[in-house]
Amino acid sequence: MTRPAPLAVLSALAEEQQGLVGALLDAQCVRYAGRDFWVGRMHGVPVVLALSRIGKVAAATTTAALIERFGAQRMVFTGVAGGVGDGVEVGDVVVGTGFVQHDMDASPLFPRYQIPLTGQSVFAGDADLTARLMDAAQLALVDGGPRGGARLHTGLIASGDRFVSGVQEAAALVAALRSAGHMPLAVEMEGAAVAQVCADHGVAFAAVRTISDRADDTAHVDFPRFVREVASLYAVKIVDGLVKSL
Ligand code: SAH
Repeated sequence: MTRPAPLAVLSALAEEQQGLVGALLDAQCVRYAGRDFWVGRMHGVPVVLALSRIGKVAAATTTAALIERFGAQRMVFTGVAGGVGDGVEVGDVVVGTGFVQHDMDASPLFPRYQIPLTGQSVFAGDADLTARLMDAAQLALVDGGPRGGARLHTGLIASGDRFVSGVQEAAALVAALRSAGHMPLAVEMEGAAVAQVCADHGVAFAAVRTISDRADDTAHVDFPRFVREVASLYAVKIVDGLVKSL
């Protein structure tokens, strides 16, 4: 009998993943490609948890390992991000419907932001998995989010190898994206890389990010406190809700 393909749940930081490992039944740690992969079950669903570490290359490597070595056919990223969309505040939750690499620029050979030889700038999340993730995130918010009045947003997430921590830097990044027709809600450092690898392999992808900072001059202060105190608990609620719906 063939084993069903596991759901992969990817995070960048240990703090983002912590609670998830605790929620895994029959958890076994497999060391591969310099990383720990936790294989087990949640609500009877086979799940593999992984920590990508930070940045696009680390995320792409981990995604490839999850697909090739662990047989993942569905992938969910859960983590934190900087809010750059209007009204996207610390404690809010963003579910990505599309993913763009804000630091991709092979112009004038290819249009700014386009991933060369794919013809694509934005990789879409899988419709079914994303809808389930939205429901789970909404439920977690109703259940008592990290901050009273926290809201769920859905839309574009921009990724790049840069911790965005300046008002002017964030404004310039957003203005450049907007001038190419892209309206980002959040910036982070992994999502669009995972989306690209998943697209190559025909693997369903969805991502949820809790907003840890506003990508402004206080981002480096807000970020660690938020990740420690809120993000990991929140990831558990959302992933638990998602897995129950599968
Ligand atoms: N100094 C931190 C570095 C974290 S980098 C540390 O000690 O670990 C930030 C991580 O959170 C990345 O994985 C990224 O995806 C996400 N992130 C949160 N806020 C961000 C922001 N303002 N800009 C870019 N990435 C952000």
